[in-house]
Amino acid sequence: MTEEPAEATLSNLLKEERTFPPSAEFAEQANVHADAYEKAQNDRISFWEEAANRLDWSEPWHTALEWNAPFAKWFVGGKLNVAYNCVDRHVEAGNGDRVAIHWEGEPGDTRTITYSDLQKEVSKAANALHELGVRTGDRVMIYLPMIPEAAVAMLACARLGAAHSVVFGGFSADSLRNRIDDAQAKVVITADGGYRRGKPSALKPAADEAIAGTGVEKVLVVRRTGEDVPWTEGRDVWWHDVVDRQADTHEHTTFDAENPLFILYTSGTTAKPKGILHTSGGYLTQASYTHHAVFDLKPETDIYWCAADIGWVTGHSYIVYGPLSNGVTQVMYEGTPDTPHQGRFWEIIQKYKVTILYTAPTTIRTFMKWGADIPAKFDLSSLRLLGSVGEPINPEAWIWYRHHIGGDNAPIVDTWWQTETGAIMVSPLPGVTSTKPGSAQKALPGISADVVDESGKSVPDGGGGYLVLTEPWPSMLRGIWGDDERFKDTYWSRYSEQGYYFAGDGAKKDDDGDLWLLGRVDDVMNVSGHRISTTEVESALVSHPSVAEAAVVGATDPTTGQGIVAFVILRGEAKEGTDTAAELRQHVAREIGPIAKPRQILVVPELPKTRSGKIMRRLLRDVAENRSLGDVTTLADPTVMNLISAGLTGGK
Ligand code: ATP
Ligand code: MG
Repeated sequence: MTEEPAEATLSNLLKEERTFPPSAEFAEQANVHADAYEKAQNDRISFWEEAANRLDWSEPWHTALEWNAPFAKWFVGGKLNVAYNCVDRHVEAGNGDRVAIHWEGEPGDTRTITYSDLQKEVSKAANALHELGVRTGDRVMIYLPMIPEAAVAMLACARLGAAHSVVFGGFSADSLRNRIDDAQAKVVITADGGYRRGKPSALKPAADEAIAGTGVEKVLVVRRTGEDVPWTEGRDVWWHDVVDRQADTHEHTTFDAENPLFILYTSGTTAKPKGILHTSGGYLTQASYTHHAVFDLKPETDIYWCAADIGWVTGHSYIVYGPLSNGVTQVMYEGTPDTPHQGRFWEIIQKYKVTILYTAPTTIRTFMKWGADIPAKFDLSSLRLLGSVGEPINPEAWIWYRHHIGGDNAPIVDTWWQTETGAIMVSPLPGVTSTKPGSAQKALPGISADVVDESGKSVPDGGGGYLVLTEPWPSMLRGIWGDDERFKDTYWSRYSEQGYYFAGDGAKKDDDGDLWLLGRVDDVMNVSGHRISTTEVESALVSHPSVAEAAVVGATDPTTGQGIVAFVILRGEAKEGTDTAAELRQHVAREIGPIAKPRQILVVPELPKTRSGKIMRRLLRDVAENRSLGDVTTLADPTVMNLISAGLTGGK
């Protein structure tokens, strides 16, 4: 490691050189070929117009893009109904008997919903919401477990031209109340509860607490667990009372392409949640196109499963809008991966012969921790494509996924995008790209991304800096609900001169110009003047055979500015020895250089994560710097922090 002056850009440390070209058979049958890049390059706008023609419009647009930076309008003048595009048109095309959703409840109960069934359910729900006073332009809050009614409720809102705002079932009453107030929602759709980890988990009491004193007029309640619930007469109504008695047809109207479709509050990994606003035509175009292109989706034969929660943007774009607009059959699962046993995911894949699986690195690392012998007990040979989203995937986790789940054969698509981008932006194309473990690689056709330095200059191949999006895209956020200033400030002020969207993520370009995401800019560490990404050190740790998962933070250090503190979870088969920490420190030094050697390594049983599976490093920073913990309310499991703290007392 040479001693250079403090750089403004990220140090580029980890070297990963394995590549995996698609098989000839896969490449040949792929939906999208290399010419798509060229086509989009030649005329980005007409490329997206062609993609928009995947949808059914009642009125064509007159202008594809109106760009009043940073405010975009796509397909101006066009009219469509999003729910019609996701449901009715498939029935009209003769595919009403195709299964839309194979739903698997956590306790093992199942439901099979065809596109015809879905059309009836959505129509009834739309009629019911109308009866409850919901009109075009209103906001409806959805606070439900992973049950089919969640998708039905979203589509019913879309059908009426009302915006939905889905809040994770795991979020607290306070989080829900803030979002209700911010969105000024009129109706809340919730349930008595859902199943999590083998037990009913109540939702209605938290919903009641959140709603009290807000402007909410009606609460529509799905019965899922059958447990007793508190009830407010005149305000609360049961789904089975109000929805079930409605007519199962609903005459839809069509709406402007820019009609709000949903507001989704970002998970709040970093700060106060932002109400990200998405609209209809451009959003659905990109959700639909990317689902077709990135997952190589064949609606007649694929069984697709996105194992995300509907309360996260991944659930919006890749459980509801992308897959349903494409008319595929999908699996939807209510519960956790270890209920009633650690092979539940693989059992589901075997049972439904799932062909495409889309999940998060955190889940993959959990499976690594549990051991490869668990998936080995199931028949996973139906899988032909694997996806990853939510965090950078460590190369070793990628290799594990490919080998143990994908049978060394299924291409892996590592998809980078955000709540704000609405749909996938950077990803390999499975029939085209030679994939590299840990790299999201290339902006999709029609998308313009770059890595720039502090001053906004594009870094050369081999360099590190900040990921930016340099041209507007159809599914881009249209703003932060009710706060244009914050919208401009957060995303557009940093590179205002260039007019770039600042994503907030560090990234590097390798020698081939492929993109590697390096984690959030706020998480970048500064050790003796070197800017080091948490992702690279974590990936080095995970490449050690004993480590399943690692989280790294920079803690204030009197001599180096920041010292690297690593929290590691060992693999099922590994045992903590007396010199584990010393060995792991040496391992990191060997893998990426002495500068990145952690000052401290702590073996922990769990890591703090959000419901969307992201590590909350700020809480670990609190631990590393002996501070009292910040806000833990958006953690999937708030007790994890106690486990970590308890494990550390008396530790080194
Ligand atoms: P908040 O913005 O409130 O802190 P959040 O950023 O966690 O919440 P999301 O929009 O769900 O909410 O996550 C987007 C972020 O997730 C990206 O900015 C990036 O940091 C990370 N991310 C998602 N996919 C990938 C990927 N494939 N590779 C690397 N990072 C990814
Ligand atoms: Mg974010």
